[in-house]
Amino acid sequence: MPESKPFHVVPGDAHDNVLIANAHPPSWVNPEPASSYNLVVIGAGTAGLVAAAGGAAVGARVALIEKALMGGDCLNYGCVPSKAVIRSSRTAAEIRNAADFGIVAGGPVDIDFAKVMERMRRLRAQISGHDSAERFKGLGVDVFLGEARFFDKRRIEVGGKFLKFAKALIATGAKPIHPPIPGLAEAGFLTNETVFTLTRRPESLAVIGGGPIGCELAQAFRRLGSKVTIIQRDVQFLPREDRDAAELLGCVFAEEDIVCKLNARITQVTVLNGKKRIHFTVDGREEMIEAEEILVGAGRAPNVEGLNLEAAGVDFDARSGVKVNGYLQTTNRRIYAAGDVAFPFKFTHIAEATARIVVQNALFLKSKKTKSLTIPWCTYTDPEIAHVGMSEKEAQAAGIKVRTFVRPFKDVDRAVLDGEDNGFVKIHVKKEKDRIVGATIVGRHAGEMISEITAVMAAGKGVKLLAASVIHPYPTQADAVKQASGQYYAGLMKPFLKKALGKWFSWKR
Ligand SMILES: Cc1cc2nc3c(=O)[nH]c(=O)nc-3n(C[C@H](O)[C@H](O)[C@H](O)COP(=O)(O)OP(=O)(O)OC[C@H]3O[C@@H](n4cnc5c(N)ncnc54)[C@H](O)[C@@H]3O)c2cc1C
Repeated sequence: MPESKPFHVVPGDAHDNVLIANAHPPSWVNPEPASSYNLVVIGAGTAGLVAAAGGAAVGARVALIEKALMGGDCLNYGCVPSKAVIRSSRTAAEIRNAADFGIVAGGPVDIDFAKVMERMRRLRAQISGHDSAERFKGLGVDVFLGEARFFDKRRIEVGGKFLKFAKALIATGAKPIHPPIPGLAEAGFLTNETVFTLTRRPESLAVIGGGPIGCELAQAFRRLGSKVTIIQRDVQFLPREDRDAAELLGCVFAEEDIVCKLNARITQVTVLNGKKRIHFTVDGREEMIEAEEILVGAGRAPNVEGLNLEAAGVDFDARSGVKVNGYLQTTNRRIYAAGDVAFPFKFTHIAEATARIVVQNALFLKSKKTKSLTIPWCTYTDPEIAHVGMSEKEAQAAGIKVRTFVRPFKDVDRAVLDGEDNGFVKIHVKKEKDRIVGATIVGRHAGEMISEITAVMAAGKGVKLLAASVIHPYPTQADAVKQASGQYYAGLMKPFLKKALGKWFSWKR
C-alpha cells in the first residue's frame, strides 16, 4: 500500500508525470525504519540530497525524508526551471539582435510561450532522475516520503513511524515571502512556486522585488514578449551587489523597455476590470501601474514551522532560520542544519557546500567550519553579475584598505568580437599585499568566469598568480581576468624605481 499522499504538479503533462515518478512516486512505500540511524536528513533539496548521498557513500546508515518533491526548490521551482526559461529568452534576444551580426532572421520574432514552458518541463523532468527517490534508494538511503517532525531530542516522526538518530540534519530550505501589502492576496499573485506552471504568456507582468529572482525573471518575461514593470524598494537593483554592476543592469533593463520603479513603496493592490493595479509612491509621488499578473520575488523565509524544533531543543528565528555555530551544529549538538534554512547565502552551491561540512562534522571528526568557505554567486541576467568574497564597501566596513583593478569588456578583444562588451571585471586586492579580497564580474559569461578568481582565493593564492602565471588562450573573454590582474604591477613601478632602472638600462646599452 502506498503511504505517501499523491502529489500534483501543474499543468500535469507527460513531462510532469516523469517528474512526479522521480521526485514523489505515487506508489512509493516507505521502508521499515532501522533500529537507529547514523544520520537522518529532513528535506531532500540540494543540501539534504548531498548529505544523504555523502553519508551513504561512506557506509553510514542514512534516512532521508521529503514531504513534497525530491530535488527541492532548485530542481522544481528554482534554478532549473528559471535557467531553462532564461535560455529561451536569450535566444529571442539574440534573434532580435541578429541584424547587428549581418544575419537577416526574417520578420519579427514569434514566441511560442507554451513551447518555451514545455521545453522547460521536459528538461526539468530529464534532470529529475538524478534526484529521484529510486536513485537514492539504490545508493543505500532509506527514503521516506512524508512530513517530518521531531518527536524528541533523539527521534523524528514521519507518517506514524519513528526514526531514531545519532545525528540529524535539518535541510528544509526556504519559501517565498508573501509581503503584507493590502489587497495583494485578494488580487492574487505568482511566486517562484507557481510562475513555472504558466502555459500562456501574461500580456503584462508587474514584478515586485528587484533582487536576483525578480531581476532574472523580469528580463526573461520581457524578452519573451510580456510588458514588464519591476518595482523595487531599494534605490538600486540587486542591493547586495557592486553599485556599478547594479547601475549597468538598470541601464540594460531600460534599453530593453522594462519599466523600472526604484525606491518605490507599494501602498495597495486593487483590481479593476480584471486588471491588477499596483499603487505605490516614488519619492513621495503617487503612481499606479496595471498588469495582468503580479510576480512576487520579495525575499525568502526559512522553513522552520511544523518541525517541532522546540521538542528537539533547537533554537530558531522565523527570519534568519535555524541557529547554528560555525560547525553548523544547532543548539542540540546532535542536530545540524544546512542550506537555505540556516544560511544567509541562499544558493544551491552553498546548500551543497554546507551539506559537505555536515557530513564531515556529523559523521567524522568535527573539523570543518563555514568560515573556511569562499563564496561566489551569480545572478543570471544578461549580462550576468557574478561575485565572490567582499565588495569594496564590505572591505571598507571591515577596515581593509583595497586597491581595485577594473577591466571593461569593451577593451577585451573577444568580447568586442562577440558583441558582448557590456560589462567589466573588478578585482579588489588588499593594499600592499598580494591577497584578493573580492571580485565582481559583469558580463555575458560572468558566472563561468568568476570561478577562476574563486579558485585562486580558495587556494590562498594572490592576484600575482593570475597576472603572471596563468595563461589564457587568445582570444577569450576570460582574459579580462588576467588583464585586470595585470594592473597589480602598474602601481608597483614607483617613479624612483623606474628612474633607477632607466639608468641601469642605459649602462647596459
Ligand atoms: C527562482 C529561483 C531561482 C534560483 N536560481 C538559483 C541559481 O541559479 N543558482 C543557485 O545557486 N541558487 C538558485 N536559487 C536558490 C536555490 O534554489 C536554493 O538555494 C536551494 O534550492 C536551497 O537548497 P536547500 O536544500 O537548502 O533547500 P530546498 O531546495 O528548499 O529543499 C528543502 C526541502 O525540504 C523539504 N521539507 C521542508 N520541510 C519538510 C518537512 N517538515 N519534512 C520533510 N521535508 C520537508 C521541502 O519540501 C524541500 O524539498 C534559486 C531559487 C529560486 C527560488
